Amino acid sequence: MLLAGSTLSSYDEARQDFSWAAATQLLSGLPEGRGLNIAYEAVDRHVATGRGGHVAVRTVGRSGTRDLTYRELSLLSNRFANLLHSLDVGPRARVFTLLGRQPELYVAALGCWKNLSVLSPLFAAFGPEPIRNRLTLGDAQVLVTTTALYRRKIAPQRDRLHGLRHVLLIDAAEDPPDGTLDLTAALASQPDHWTIPATSPEAMALLHFTSGTTGTPKGAVHVHDAVVAQHITAGFALDLRPDDVFWCTADPGWVTGTSYGIIAPLTHGVTLLADDGDFDANRWYQVLADHHVTVWYTAPTALRMLMRAGAELASRYDLSALRHIASVGEPLNPEVVVWAREAYGIPVHDNWWQTETGAIMISNYPSMPIRPGSMGRPMPGIDAAVLRCGDDGRAAVTGGQVSVLGTDQVGELALRPGWPSMFRAYLHDDLRYRQAFAGGWYLTGDLARVDADGYFWFVGRADDVIKSSGHLVGPFEVESALLEHPAVTEAGVIGVPDEVAGEIVKAFVTLRPGYEPDDALRAELIAFGRRRLGAVAPRDVAFDQHLPHTSSGKVMRRLLKARELGLPEGDLSTLERPR
Ligand code: AMP
Repeated sequence: MLLAGSTLSSYDEARQDFSWAAATQLLSGLPEGRGLNIAYEAVDRHVATGRGGHVAVRTVGRSGTRDLTYRELSLLSNRFANLLHSLDVGPRARVFTLLGRQPELYVAALGCWKNLSVLSPLFAAFGPEPIRNRLTLGDAQVLVTTTALYRRKIAPQRDRLHGLRHVLLIDAAEDPPDGTLDLTAALASQPDHWTIPATSPEAMALLHFTSGTTGTPKGAVHVHDAVVAQHITAGFALDLRPDDVFWCTADPGWVTGTSYGIIAPLTHGVTLLADDGDFDANRWYQVLADHHVTVWYTAPTALRMLMRAGAELASRYDLSALRHIASVGEPLNPEVVVWAREAYGIPVHDNWWQTETGAIMISNYPSMPIRPGSMGRPMPGIDAAVLRCGDDGRAAVTGGQVSVLGTDQVGELALRPGWPSMFRAYLHDDLRYRQAFAGGWYLTGDLARVDADGYFWFVGRADDVIKSSGHLVGPFEVESALLEHPAVTEAGVIGVPDEVAGEIVKAFVTLRPGYEPDDALRAELIAFGRRRLGAVAPRDVAFDQHLPHTSSGKVMRRLLKARELGLPEGDLSTLERPR
């Protein structure tokens, strides 16, 4: 059978013969046919087949190196499931994490799935406001975090988080603040044994927040069946094999940090390297060399920073264990692909996906020639197309129908629904979920073109969301925060091209009468944004008493962007980032 393993030797054959049913067979399923549970596939089945002694997660960085074997992870996550149960936190209850890549992250995630609760990981660099919004929108019952993050970002607003029943601190020791529990002590008193309840593949497992152009962040709901797509794509696109040491540099608060920072690699039985330190070119190379990383999944911003540090720096480290490098999250410049070949002896394989897709959808595969600058070709099992756009820059829908464009024409990238890791809902927002589909396609919000050989090329976003250092930033959330400053009466937020970060967030604000547009106020607004929003705050603020508006009175971000980039104001179709 073609899918005897999950490496991809022939793309065309794999596409032809592929079925999701066969892909499901690569996993074990719960014993006695009791369904499909992510935690069982990621951990317990390896223990059951005699690989319990293999290192599952190696955490390195700030607090030193620590290994957790598959057996240890299995027992600790059993304890976490028992703990949730003893706290009366049941199936479907939302368990949030606000953590770096500490060992407790993996224990909590897996324990949460074992209890059929729903994991929602947050970006620890968010400020208090985005955190509160997401905890509230997601009906958080449990939060797992550190004492420092709790004191800084949660405690001051705890009285506004009515549904939050339990806060578990991973490092509180004897002295947990009021209203919190020390996780280590709480786990110590729990039994090692836990039987995963029967799990429907359609049971909700993950809630990932993502941003749109308007309104609150959207909570994309994923189910246990997603593990089928995460597993097979990690084989096809990342070439994972059980003896690999795999390093995914994505933050656990974004979808890559879960799909490929926790789930997929563990389903392959690899050693997952989890580095909790900050970016530093020397230190990153040291990590690659010291831990003999074989497969490395990272992002264009990081690669551009490494390119700036030079190939000579890379040559000082023994990177000979590296077999495969892949990148995701933002456009990967062709020059980086070419440079990597020089610096590392192997190229970077770009791939494309997004929060809603739950797994890689389009990729340059190890067995196929790379086209530098292209995202690659659709996964076996995935149908992708480019749809004709209307005046608003999104796919044009007439009488419920859309039209598929031919080669080399730019339109909205769309996918045929039906793969296992496709989001099943936006939590509490059925309308926005339904609006994401038209004419039998899921509309991705990206603009792309496809060439005659079926390679897809990213052109830009079809909406106003911003990608900064690989993080998706919703302009509305940033504008709303700025409007809370007494000086600001209106705000428009855009992404401005940046050589390293892809884009940086820039705000244009209109001031209330009596405020002076000077440097002191600019600095104050930047600091204000930073305090509230954290890492997604604007890096630059400009004053503009005449923000452009649409006929319905909304700030025209695209026009702001055209002006900022010196592009003709009439031609809004050219406003995407030049490549
Ligand atoms: P997120 O949902 O936060 O993972 O962001 C997904 C978005 O990131 C996509 O819709 C694209 O706009 C962008 N993106 C992801 N991968 C790529 C890629 N390989 N090339 C260009 N843009 C990408």
